[in-house]
Amino acid sequence: MRISVVSGKGGAGKTSIAVSLALCRQGAFIVDCDVEEPNVSLFVPVQIEEKKVATKPVPQVKQDLCTFCRRCAEACQFNALMVLPNTVLVFEKLCHSCGTCSFVCPERAIVEVERPIGEIEKGKGAGIHYIGGRLFVGEAMATPLISQVRGQIPSDAEFVVIDAPPGITCPVVEAVDGADFVVLVAESTPFGLQDMRLVVEFLEEMKVPFGVVENKVGLCEEPMVQEFCRSSGIDFLASIPFDEEIASSYSEGIPMIHSYGGDVFEQIISFIEDRL
Ligand code: SF4
Ligand code: SF4
Repeated sequence: MRISVVSGKGGAGKTSIAVSLALCRQGAFIVDCDVEEPNVSLFVPVQIEEKKVATKPVPQVKQDLCTFCRRCAEACQFNALMVLPNTVLVFEKLCHSCGTCSFVCPERAIVEVERPIGEIEKGKGAGIHYIGGRLFVGEAMATPLISQVRGQIPSDAEFVVIDAPPGITCPVVEAVDGADFVVLVAESTPFGLQDMRLVVEFLEEMKVPFGVVENKVGLCEEPMVQEFCRSSGIDFLASIPFDEEIASSYSEGIPMIHSYGGDVFEQIISFIEDRL
């Protein structure tokens, strides 16, 4: 089973809930795809066993073969190339590694070279497996790294929980793609509800089954997320209260399964198992 945990905004409790779900099953895989701000390892005492640099292919122009015809720059949809009278500039951080420029170059003046974009770590802790990515500072595109992080999940892994980046950007699509079920974590505030509605539209567009966990219930007067789910026919999975002990445990890197208890996470997993 592959579960992705998403949220409309940061600070909703997504990572703590993702880790808690993974800790319900010995031998599970927790996969940190929030590569711009990875923090799963703050909640699990991970022993890193393997670390490697992730790269992506970018073009390199052999200036001695180039006739400065501009075809590569005209073909690039991402404005990652600029042809000057006697040189071609490559803006590697804008490059999506699509290969179009080398395909259209009539002089075969473009080769692909590997550019480091981040790190991938693998390890174990608390009876579960950990895979995580960390984008290098200044890198603009998380999606290629997330794709490579996901590629590290063994094909025979039985229980996988993916901690996705917050929001509804391309990296989230990559983290949700192929999930059997998505757990959407929403903060029980007007902002949380608003962000959640955007994620709901996005998940409906992706046609992936999902349910909602309302976190920090009691922070505002009404449990507004649950009410929205009820009126919209969205599966509501659980309410987690706004509680001082959960908050202070969170700040010490203690996941909710230890500060709030495991029953709610077992119930969420049972619900998902029944749905699949
Ligand atoms: S398409 Fe090839 S030959 Fe033309 S400007 Fe680009 S690199 Fe140079
Ligand atoms: S590989 Fe694609 S995105 Fe990158 S520079 Fe070439 S055409 Fe542009």
